[in-house]
Amino acid sequence: MAEYKRPTSEQEFAQNFHPKKPLMSDTEAYYESSRCLYCYDAPCINACPTGIDIPTFIRQINNDNKDGAAKTIYESNWFGHACGNVCPTEELCEGACVYNNSDVKPIEIGRLQAHATEKVIRSKKRLFITGKPTGRKVAVIGAGPAGVSCACELRMLGHEVDIYEAREKPSGLCVYGVAPYKLTNEEALDEMTYLQEQFGFNVHYNKPVSGRTELDRLEKGYDAIFIGIGLGGTSSLGIPGEDKKGVMGALEFVEELRNKHHLTPVGSKVIVLGGGNTAMDAASESCRMGAESVIIAYRRGPEEMGAYSFEFDLAKKSGSKALFNVTPVEVLGNGSVTGVKFIRNKTAYGKIEAIPGSEFVEPCDMVLLGTGQGKQVELLEQISGVKLDQKGRILDNRGRIVVNEHYQTNNPKYFAAGDAVNGGVEVVNAAAEAKRAAHGIDQYLKK
Ligand SMILES: Cc1cc2nc3c(=O)[nH]c(=O)nc-3n(C[C@H](O)[C@H](O)[C@H](O)COP(=O)(O)OP(=O)(O)OC[C@H]3O[C@@H](n4cnc5c(N)ncnc54)[C@H](O)[C@@H]3O)c2cc1C
Ligand code: SF4
Repeated sequence: MAEYKRPTSEQEFAQNFHPKKPLMSDTEAYYESSRCLYCYDAPCINACPTGIDIPTFIRQINNDNKDGAAKTIYESNWFGHACGNVCPTEELCEGACVYNNSDVKPIEIGRLQAHATEKVIRSKKRLFITGKPTGRKVAVIGAGPAGVSCACELRMLGHEVDIYEAREKPSGLCVYGVAPYKLTNEEALDEMTYLQEQFGFNVHYNKPVSGRTELDRLEKGYDAIFIGIGLGGTSSLGIPGEDKKGVMGALEFVEELRNKHHLTPVGSKVIVLGGGNTAMDAASESCRMGAESVIIAYRRGPEEMGAYSFEFDLAKKSGSKALFNVTPVEVLGNGSVTGVKFIRNKTAYGKIEAIPGSEFVEPCDMVLLGTGQGKQVELLEQISGVKLDQKGRILDNRGRIVVNEHYQTNNPKYFAAGDAVNGGVEVVNAAAEAKRAAHGIDQYLKK
């Protein structure tokens, strides 16, 4: 188990947040690519939501054709570099690699992908030519993985694109959500600059589309509109004491950490509430910020956690401990948080039941809510005809934008993809869906 000293400088922060998948040298990439069996009907391709031709790009790396490798990757996934670093490859391509069947380490596909794309981003080499201008204009709301991927594909199809982004930087959660030991701001933004220079879409920063006035303007000025706004802030738990000083959303904590690095205030005793990937990230990051104790508290058992097991393992290796089958009932403290009162649960027929009299208090000075992100329902309800998921059996899914197989909403001018549609999955899913949505828009514009 790692023990981290509280970082007091940028250098110490960089040490604690050492990249999980460091860039490969040319020699490493050569040896690793030599191991690939270039399988026929390769399972790694089928496991990739964007269907990258993995054996081909690995062979291109092996033949020292990095530009060709990067082109193969980008043809399928415009977030090729980000995904090489942040994708849960253990669950996707690398998890499907045939080497797993022989108990041999799978090919490090993610690192090879990052190796090839980093080279081409650094060289600024132009790999793609945009499509013949069609004279049609598309507005994209949000410059996250979904919005930018849709913009790149629309430019390949010859349409003009203006992106309206609420914040001052592109790349969405890649710059304010994903753990910094997976992808740094510089890496994420360099890829965005590379794509923007290559495809020439316009991005209007600090321009949130927040109501009818902006929507009217977009509807009048554009032939189609793509919604790639992702989700909202952390949902509240609805228990007493949540407003105390020291309680914050795990997502907001990660965002602050990505901006302020070692200057981010982190408690000595941190409790992270939740069992999803965001909760695991927040726990791993609190450990790396030198918290003395970090406890992940989840209301069910370990096997029912939403987080990938490798993310839970990483949180444990970073120094976190876990409390299972507990429900928080109150955040305690006088102004600032001093602890969380929990009640123990048992699960009967899939339902959680509190065990009467089993309350206990876990002291802490910081609480991070890994309770999932809300949806941007207020904005979406102002778009006439756009239908939201309301009947979903799973409460968390309510408020997702309903789309058809072309990612078109019930208002034919509006298309949508990414977290706002799938409820929050991975960068690679947003990139894959948005590419398909761009083709849906293209078909709509051609009609
Ligand atoms: C803490 C955390 C860690 C994660 N870690 C990983 C990981 O390790 N690997 C992985 O693959 N995935 C990870 N994910 C998931 C991944 O980041 C998302 O699935 C992906 O970013 C979704 O892309 P998107 O474009 O749909 O939404 P977002 O990335 O949220 O982008 C939406 C963009 O729209 C902008 N926007 C929002 N509202 C408006 C508006 N009204 N007007 C204009 N602009 C607007 C936002 O500012 C943002 O730039 C993580 C998510 C979280 C929360
Ligand atoms: S499954 Fe593994 S060995 Fe086969 S092509 Fe894919 S990466 Fe190479």
